[in-house]
Parts: sequence; structure tokens; C-alpha cells
Amino acid sequence: MIIELRRFFENDDIKQDFSYEFDTEDEIISSPVSVSGYVKNSTGIVSISAQAVFTVSTQCALCAKDIRKKLTVPVKHFLIDQLNDEDNDDYIVVENLSLNLDELVMEDIYLSFPTRFVCKADCKGLCPYCGNDLNENECGCKKPVDPRLAALQQLLSDDE
Ligand SMILES: [Zn+2]
Ligand SMILES: [Zn+2]
Repeated sequence: MIIELRRFFENDDIKQDFSYEFDTEDEIISSPVSVSGYVKNSTGIVSISAQAVFTVSTQCALCAKDIRKKLTVPVKHFLIDQLNDEDNDDYIVVENLSLNLDELVMEDIYLSFPTRFVCKADCKGLCPYCGNDLNENECGCKKPVDPRLAALQQLLSDDE
């Protein structure tokens, strides 16, 4: 959705609510992204405050279990029509006084994503040796001895 912002920059004390949804091509977002909030000018300061709600479907990075989660991401920014001296991500410079809200929402969604999704904070993952799901039970696999170390041990015992 494109929001035309001229009237928000030209009028103090104006507020408009919005609520809509858009589809995304993102591979792990499995629902439309539903966005609701408002744009306002309050005492000369233009801002957007909204939240994006959507469902993520992916697999645990550790144990590969399916994960399906409903997430809510806040989208809150001050909007300015020209650069100022502040170096701050909270400020969005809107060129041509129009805002592509879908793009802004997707940026905030990606910033909110963890580097990897896990099924639970303390997921134990899979055993690297037998593939057993360590959340289900222990498999008793021992870390194999490094073959170089084994060769060295062999050499040492040959000398005796
Ligand atoms: Zn897991
Ligand atoms: Zn194992």
C-alpha cells in the first residue's frame, strides 16, 4: 500500500487509521501479512505506528521439526521529508511524500527475524553421529577419537 503523506506534513493534528493485508513471496511467511495502525501528525511530528501479523512456517535449524508460529512485529517510525543531522533508524526519509508501506513492513519483519528459527530455546538438536533426536532420548553416542590422534597413539605403542 502506498500512503500519500503530503496532508500529514501540511496539517498539524491529523490522524488516519489503516488496516490492510498484502501477500509476500517470502518462502517462510505462509500467510498474508496483516497490517494495522495509523499515521499521524502530532504537533508537527509525522509518525507511523502499526503492527504486522503473519505466520511463519519453517523447520527448526537444530532438529528439523516443523515450526508454525504466528508473529507480531511492531512498525514504528518517525517520518521526515528531508534529511536532518540525526543518524537514527527510527527516522525514515520519505521521498516525494509517499511511503511504500509494504516495503517498510518487510524491512522491519526481516530485522526482527532471528538468525535461525528453533522449535524451542533449549532444543538439543540431532545427534551428529546417528541422527537421533536428542530431545526425545539420549542415544549414548560417544565422540569418535580423532584418527590422527589414534595414529599417534599407535606409533607410540609400537615403540615400546
Ligand atoms: Zn528443534
Ligand atoms: Zn547418536
